[in-house]
Amino acid sequence: MEKKVTKIGVLTSGGDSPGMNAAIRAVVRTGIYHGMEVYGIMRGYSGMVENEIVRMESKSVANIIQRGGTILKTSRCKEFFTPEGRKTAYENLKKHGINGLIIIGGDGSFRGAQIFSNEFDIPCIGLPGTIDKDIAGTDFTIGFDTAVNTAVEAIDKIRDTADAHDRLFIIEVMGRDAGYIALHSGIATGAENILIPERKTIIDDIIKALEEKERRHKLVNLIVVAEGEEFGGADEVAKVIKKRLPQQEVRVCILGHIQRGGSPSCMDRLIASRMGYHAVECLMENRHNVFVGIVNNKMNYTPLNEAVKKKQRISEEWMTVVKILSS
Ligand code: ADP
Repeated sequence: MEKKVTKIGVLTSGGDSPGMNAAIRAVVRTGIYHGMEVYGIMRGYSGMVENEIVRMESKSVANIIQRGGTILKTSRCKEFFTPEGRKTAYENLKKHGINGLIIIGGDGSFRGAQIFSNEFDIPCIGLPGTIDKDIAGTDFTIGFDTAVNTAVEAIDKIRDTADAHDRLFIIEVMGRDAGYIALHSGIATGAENILIPERKTIIDDIIKALEEKERRHKLVNLIVVAEGEEFGGADEVAKVIKKRLPQQEVRVCILGHIQRGGSPSCMDRLIASRMGYHAVECLMENRHNVFVGIVNNKMNYTPLNEAVKKKQRISEEWMTVVKILSS
């Protein structure tokens, strides 16, 4: 018979994303509502290894739904990669009587959770907290909407100056393995081209399109590039374009970490609250070692080991939209 989960540990791990606090709040309050004890584990898996574990009350999560970052802090924990590190982590959880874990993080954190739950008898539930939206099994990840809106706001401003000076701007957004921030922000700001890791960058096509636009005196050009794009980001793409089109005034802007911070959008607060609530329900219903997602507005539960294998795919339809609307 499955054991009843009575004490939950919650942690945020890997890259931070706006909305993680809203998810922590949802987990803490739902757990307490159901009569469970909830513990906050500090700095991701590091807090498990180093026994930095604190009891959380309803008031511990007051006034955080609107705050970016994570009150539990996050880290990348080397010790957790080792069996000894994970054993220490397990012993620390046992000291507190914790018998269920909720991990808010990206696919790396899920991989760690999967390995941990295979080794020890602690059920783990994942919540997708990542600005990259690079996990299959959910239409949304906590933080993506805020990050993409931050990028849109910044690119709109760049467009003003690009227009004033008739310049070509190459703007780099985050996304080492996934091009969703680039794709969405690029479409929403009317970019001429969007370069993403999921597709081959055909530089000849970009040059041809720029030359054609020059002939038509269409001078405002924005190219949005994901950092993990084939050439290696905006600086590299700019070098190639400058060489081929020396007459073009090319400027590079790398948006960087502003995309991670800030108050979460309404959408991110909503999905974080909904997913956090359902994560606790999963533990209560013995639906173990899954991550919580939303697909077609319904809750969707993917086994952790599948979540780490699959990536989301960029639909070809979007690329056609980009091509037609930027012509
Ligand atoms: P994200 O969750 O944002 O993808 P990372 O890939 O950096 O971030 O993973 C976060 C943490 O999860 C790592 O620092 C490590 O502690 C843990 N982790 C990731 N992969 C593994 C693994 N294969 N084995 C054990 N722990 C892992």
